[in-house]
Amino acid sequence: MPIIESFGPSSDAPSPMPGSGRSAAARKFPVLSAPSLEWNEEVARSTARLYERIKHVVPSVEWPFFAPYVRAINDLKRERSAVILAHNYQTPEIYNCVADFVGDSLQLAREATKVKADVIVQCGVHFMAETAKILNPDKVVLIPDRNAGCSLASSITGDDIRLLRERFPGVPVVTYVNTSADVKAESDICCTSSNALHVVESLGTERVIFLPDEYLAKYVASQTKVKIIAWKGHCEVHQRFTADELRRYRDDYPSVQIIAHPECPPDVLAEADFIGSTAHMIDFVRTKRPRRVVMVTECSMADNVRVEVPDVEFVQPCNLCPHMKRITLPKILDSLLTMQDEVVVDPLVAEKARRAVERMIHLKS
Ligand code: SF4
Repeated sequence: MPIIESFGPSSDAPSPMPGSGRSAAARKFPVLSAPSLEWNEEVARSTARLYERIKHVVPSVEWPFFAPYVRAINDLKRERSAVILAHNYQTPEIYNCVADFVGDSLQLAREATKVKADVIVQCGVHFMAETAKILNPDKVVLIPDRNAGCSLASSITGDDIRLLRERFPGVPVVTYVNTSADVKAESDICCTSSNALHVVESLGTERVIFLPDEYLAKYVASQTKVKIIAWKGHCEVHQRFTADELRRYRDDYPSVQIIAHPECPPDVLAEADFIGSTAHMIDFVRTKRPRRVVMVTECSMADNVRVEVPDVEFVQPCNLCPHMKRITLPKILDSLLTMQDEVVVDPLVAEKARRAVERMIHLKS
């Protein structure tokens, strides 16, 4: 079923993040002084087990820089009663060495509801930290770099949704979690790339407004009889892949399995052997164990999966997300020392946004 109409933003460029401030809760925590970041035998010994995990993807020459930060961050997490949530696109030393929970947006949103800690450090982009705050209004949520944005999230505003509702009265709005709290607050239900089709079909309507990723909307439209009204937002990482590039991988590596994220353009998806969310792509590699694979998504994910399956050969296009890459070990350490930047969401907006996120989380599979 084709998309019936697409509306769009004037630009895919991320806009500055909404304000963050220091809540009374965050002010309870004293600013701590920086620990020693010296590389020595003791640090080498205490972090050796962690390096063993990532030695296939992090050169040994880099570990003396990372290890003192890894140790300091893990110590500080205990002191602050903090947990670190890391998205699949984080670099291997973050994902494997300091994160308590890893996953895609849906997995992190679910973990965020269960954490017992006082503080959540979100190693991902701003909308993910907002989602963690929406689901944990009483916890302090920190993001190590408040400028970690997202071209999809910044492609649409709450005002855009209000205008679409005027144009399509009564049509429910399904919003991808890659959106700001304001946008979630104007939506009926959220979805991720793992559950988008299920969410759309769960509403039982002939039409839905599906925002903001146009390519994910097209992919969902190809799988359902529900008519999709889409928005022209794009992920600046996935939209860079081309069908020609994938055909070249197939020519150069005849036995390769090509697995792609549905945020890619339709002609790219047409070249793939498997299409799925980051969680589904990881499951594919874990269970099918292809001899050789290309993951058509953000580059760091292949490094993180390779840690688990060293027997699989990854042919690696390197499209990096500049926003995800703003998060680094030094910034995570600084965030825990200073309790900045705290993510603050207006309580009324948060309450409305929570309804849309929880409706997705509680949807029966
Ligand atoms: S990879 Fe794409 S969707 Fe994910 S944060 Fe970066 S720009 Fe946004």
